[in-house]
Amino acid sequence: MAKAEDKLVSIVVPVYNEVLGLQAFHDSLVAVLQADTKIENEIIYVDDGSTDRTATLVRELHSKNPAVRLVRLSRNFGKEIATTAGIHEARGDCVITLDADGQHPVELIPEFLKRWQAGDKVVIGLRTANQREGLVKRYGSKLFYWLINRLAGVKLVPGATDFRLIDRTIQQEFVRMTEHGRITRGLIDWLGYQREYVPFKANPRLHGEASYSFSKLFKLAIDSVISLSVSPLFIAAYIGAVVLPLSVLVGLVMVVDALVGDPLNLNVSGSAYVVVLLLFLVGVLLVSQGIIGLYLSHIHTETQNRPLYVVDKQGSTGANEG
Ligand code: UDP
Ligand code: MG
Repeated sequence: MAKAEDKLVSIVVPVYNEVLGLQAFHDSLVAVLQADTKIENEIIYVDDGSTDRTATLVRELHSKNPAVRLVRLSRNFGKEIATTAGIHEARGDCVITLDADGQHPVELIPEFLKRWQAGDKVVIGLRTANQREGLVKRYGSKLFYWLINRLAGVKLVPGATDFRLIDRTIQQEFVRMTEHGRITRGLIDWLGYQREYVPFKANPRLHGEASYSFSKLFKLAIDSVISLSVSPLFIAAYIGAVVLPLSVLVGLVMVVDALVGDPLNLNVSGSAYVVVLLLFLVGVLLVSQGIIGLYLSHIHTETQNRPLYVVDKQGSTGANEG
């Protein structure tokens, strides 16, 4: 069969217990790929240690369509690592990552590809609305972006999702990044190049609940701040710079109090001063120790330098072909 182009597109989809919606997702994905693109493709499902029949279903999809590949991780490593594994496995001239829950509209893929063929190296889906997101998540994510853009060297754009296309040149650079505590889109942004945005409206999840609990999201936020920025380490120094003159001031008040009595009629007892000061300073110390601890724990996991993930080779299909 003569192809319009000798190019290969890799579609990377992390899946974790998605058996209920996966068939529908896959059908819509294949329909779009067949209808709107003339480019050959491979679809890599990274099974992130699902405990349901997700892997079995992907194996069935593979037996019907050899373009489907299953990369099975040996346990649940989390979405960021699963996506990373998929990007590592991709053999295409460009890689498109998206979620399997139907929230990233597959209809956008031809648009992504069009931009890529026009020369864009990074194309990013920009989420403009999501009706069913809770207040906590909405304002939490606002706060997160505000914080990270203040602290980190790279700007993260609010609404920029993991639904994105990267050219092979960027994929190859991405493979060289070895850190464990990672947020995939942050790393891709760090790699630079001109970024192009395609706005879309997120659909509600097809089935089930988002598996990201509040605590998981919180950890992800902390991870991203720590991995992209070192400025929290300086917070203690700044606080110290404020506290020192302040305590000198309080000391002066005490001296005045001792020498000329209480001219302002504050009537504060000596022990109250001590208690307030101690509490304050202990608080400052604990916070700064905690921040140092966070960085230390990251240094610890990074220096252990374990592999990022483990692929269950026997459970995977299509991994070593071609
Ligand atoms: N996912 C994963 N590992 C996990 C959690 C989620 O691979 O530990 C996948 C999930 O199957 C889906 C995508 O990551 O394809 C997005 O997950 P979800 O919808 O739960 O999170 P959201 O980002 O929408 O809050
Ligand atoms: Mg989702």
